[in-house]
Amino acid sequence: MGTDLRPPANIWERSGPVTSIPAQLAEVLPVVRAHADRCDAEARFPRESLDALRASGLMGMLVPRRYGGLGADLRTFSATAQELAGACLSTAMIWAMHGQQADAVVRHAGPRLAQDLLPRIARGKTYLASVTTEPGKGGHLLSADAALTSEDGLLHFDRTGPVVTGAEHADGFLITLRAAPDAHSGQVSLVYAERSQVAIELTGDWNPLGMRGTDSIGVRLKGSVGQHQLVGRQGEFRTVAVDSMIPVGHIAWASCWLGAARAGYQRFVRLLTSRDRPRGVDLQSPLTAERLARIRMDLELVSGYLCGVIAEVDDLRATGQGAEEPALHIHLNTLKLAASELAFAASDRMVQLAGLTLGYQRDSPLRLERLFRDLRSAALNYANDRLLTANGNLCLLDRRVRLISTPLRQTDPGQAVK
Ligand SMILES: Cc1cc2nc3c(=O)[nH]c(=O)nc-3n(C[C@H](O)[C@H](O)[C@H](O)COP(=O)(O)OP(=O)(O)OC[C@H]3O[C@@H](n4cnc5c(N)ncnc54)[C@H](O)[C@@H]3O)c2cc1C
Repeated sequence: MGTDLRPPANIWERSGPVTSIPAQLAEVLPVVRAHADRCDAEARFPRESLDALRASGLMGMLVPRRYGGLGADLRTFSATAQELAGACLSTAMIWAMHGQQADAVVRHAGPRLAQDLLPRIARGKTYLASVTTEPGKGGHLLSADAALTSEDGLLHFDRTGPVVTGAEHADGFLITLRAAPDAHSGQVSLVYAERSQVAIELTGDWNPLGMRGTDSIGVRLKGSVGQHQLVGRQGEFRTVAVDSMIPVGHIAWASCWLGAARAGYQRFVRLLTSRDRPRGVDLQSPLTAERLARIRMDLELVSGYLCGVIAEVDDLRATGQGAEEPALHIHLNTLKLAASELAFAASDRMVQLAGLTLGYQRDSPLRLERLFRDLRSAALNYANDRLLTANGNLCLLDRRVRLISTPLRQTDPGQAVK
């Protein structure tokens, strides 16, 4: 970390009218690739890759330029997550979830916290971890059990996080807590705590099937923060979640899963069309063609839906509209559901088509075995059951049935029908 952390002046390399990929990725990707296998095998955090990301300026991707960040838009954020995920899905998730936390700080921190924290995020000095899951309430985002207490002008907490990505390496934590001891479980506050402000006790190991490099261990965090370290208003975490954490989180996750699946497919197609083409896969067979087409179709659908959701969130942000419309939530949840299911289905199909040696063996150059294990987590990472049941209820509130990429406000005679 001794390197100059300032981003280079000219960082963008336009690759087309729609998406721009930051030029610094070219320096980061080889480091990420070089450490991907070992982090997976040993279930250890990709420290070297995070150091490269810190030095590149990419940790400040969503931080506005006035704080020294790159001030990138969500399309660029998504494209970057996809590229990183092609090299190592664990590293990509670590980076993308940090971006999700940074966005919440950008949009909801008060001036004192923003002034103090955002330049450090931009310089790669502060990597943010997220603590939302809790024993008992599980993944449910908008509730909390452990409460904040207020004494001597400080906010105190004692919070267990059973799954905290990068907890041992983070420089700061965004933590959800019940707003006060007498608050109900839905009155949640979000606080930022510096690593130096918390005592950290390890409570759980991380030895999972996939996403092994995220080192998502269990921790107990005990500490105190100033009132100005609230992100959003006291008890109003829902506003932060709806405006920032949910949209950016679902875009981040979907981008990572899609990027990893696409890279696996790319390796596969390149092998099939190379001189080293495996004899076991018959390219003349309609069955092979049908399977290749189905995998491609799943990737296309996720990519298209992801673009639709990014455009919708961009629109809302540009016009300053609130994100309360039921259809928008249905779209955000559908993105997570579709990306998690279809990216995993694509990896499963690739394993089947590649066969036992190329598809299922750990040391196959296609690395589909790791892709399959990693993507199996997608439906569990915020349980799809939660989102499906939420969406089912939201559907009854959207009588217009506004599908993705149709205008938010459109004169619709059906709406008037009682
Ligand atoms: C790679 C990875 C990284 C993660 N990083 C973090 C992190 O940094 N910070 C953090 O706080 N968390 C993190 N998590 C946790 C994640 O956000 C979820 O909270 C967690 O995966 C959900 O765990 P769960 O399935 O045990 O709990 P729950 O979501 O509580 O679900 C428990 C069970 O109930 C079922 N269920 C839930 N709702 C319903 C319903 N309505 N109807 C029927 N059944 C239902 C589920 O299917 C599941 O079987 C991470 C998870 C993964 C996989």
